[in-house]
Amino acid sequence: MAYKVPDLPYAYDALEPHIDEATMRAHHDKHHQAYVDKANAALADTEWEDVRPREILTRLDELPDDLRDTVRNNAGGQYNHCMFWRSMSPDGGGEPDGALGEAITTAFGSADELKSLLKTAGVNRFGSGWAWLVHDGSGLAVVSTPNQDNPVTGGQTPLLGLDVWEHAYYLVYQSRRPDYIDAWFSVVNWQTVAERFADV
Ligand code: MN
Repeated sequence: MAYKVPDLPYAYDALEPHIDEATMRAHHDKHHQAYVDKANAALADTEWEDVRPREILTRLDELPDDLRDTVRNNAGGQYNHCMFWRSMSPDGGGEPDGALGEAITTAFGSADELKSLLKTAGVNRFGSGWAWLVHDGSGLAVVSTPNQDNPVTGGQTPLLGLDVWEHAYYLVYQSRRPDYIDAWFSVVNWQTVAERFADV
C-alpha cells in the first residue's frame, strides 16, 4: 500500500506564533509530499511496497543496492515527518510529567537539561538533519542524525524528533536555528512523547 501524507492533527496556523502557517503549508504539503512521492516511486512493484516505513528503516541492509539510498532518504522522510506532526500541538509546551517526566529527571537531571541537550544537538547538526530523544534499550538519550536518517535504524527507539532542516524554520527564523528550537519547545506535545515512551 502506497505511503500517504497524513492530514495535520491541527490547523496549518495552529502553531503560530511559534511555527508559522506558511512554513507548515510548505513543509507538510510540499516537502513531506515529495518524500512520499519518491518513496512510492522507488518501492512500487518491489517486494518492499507493503512494508511499513519503520520496518524498512530497520532492514536497510537487506535492500537492493540501487534502492537503498533513495529508500533510506524518503521512507525516512515519511516516518520522521509523520512522527513530527504528531509531536507538536497548539496545546503543547510545558514540562513532561508522569513516568516520562521521572525518566527524564533520572537520565538528565531535569526537563530543562533535556531541552538544553536537544538544542545543542540540533544547533550542532551540520547541514540538515534531526535531534532526537530516544530510548536506547537501557534508558533515555539524546542523539542526532543527518539527512532523514532515523535512530530506529541503529536499534534505538525514537520518542521525539526535532527537524532542523532549513525548510522547517527558514521563512521566519532565517539562519537563527537556535531561536527556532527555543520556540519549538513551546509546541512540543509531551503527551504523545509519553505514549511512545509507554510503548518502549
Ligand atoms: Mn522536514
